[in-house]
Amino acid sequence: MSERKYIVGNWKMHGTRAMLAEARAIDRSAERLIKVEVAIAPPFTLVHACRKEATLIGIGGQDCHHVEDGAHTGDVSAAMLKDAGAGFVILGHSERRANHGETNADVKAKADAAIAAGLNIIVCVGETEAERDAGKAEAVIAKMLAGSLPSGGEALTEKVTVAYEPVWAIGSGRTPTPEEIVAMHTSIRKQLVKAYGEEGASIRILYGGSVNAENTRELLADDIVGGALVGGASLSAESFLGIIIAAG
Ligand code: PEP
Repeated sequence: MSERKYIVGNWKMHGTRAMLAEARAIDRSAERLIKVEVAIAPPFTLVHACRKEATLIGIGGQDCHHVEDGAHTGDVSAAMLKDAGAGFVILGHSERRANHGETNADVKAKADAAIAAGLNIIVCVGETEAERDAGKAEAVIAKMLAGSLPSGGEALTEKVTVAYEPVWAIGSGRTPTPEEIVAMHTSIRKQLVKAYGEEGASIRILYGGSVNAENTRELLADDIVGGALVGGASLSAESFLGIIIAAG
């Protein structure tokens, strides 16, 4: 692994203030952070507190609304996340797409709003098992990317990350082979260049789905894999640090 990998923990709907100790412990492993870029996305309620507790790692949200403010009960805007101390937001996670009916167009609107608010974004795409079995995975991902990515613009490469997360690999203990991951990342790279021209060649692409300390080295071995989006194994500093060490 030659490039500095980006390891992002998605805490999902886990964590009360007791979890701040985990954020602190990850942040205190500063020497590891020279080799690996690290971030966590806690629930909205912990974004501000995590930003205060952890000064070295990135802190982000897990979703945002596409308008700045208004009559949208229960929603949080990109500007609010930014104000709370977030530097990025995860968008289009398969759980948002499945549980909240988010479409590619919704994700794109959120992505444009987040960029406008000064946040970096991680746009998630991934095929279902049935789509993979039908040989449609690459076509499905290409369509998701074409519909979900933000409009072009200045210095976009620094702001956009794509996370390839096969739906069937999330929380299942199953992963694609390293070769399958490289093949999909190569296909995604082509789509990014198609969408953004040469600028698309340097957009970071992460793998996500059942990453743990044991499989990190193998799954992230190829340079085209820019890092990992980690769910379950990011919930304790011990297991997350295992992944960070393996990625470095
Ligand atoms: C995720 O939901 O983004 C994820 C990758 O989850 P897990 O690591 O638990 O499979």
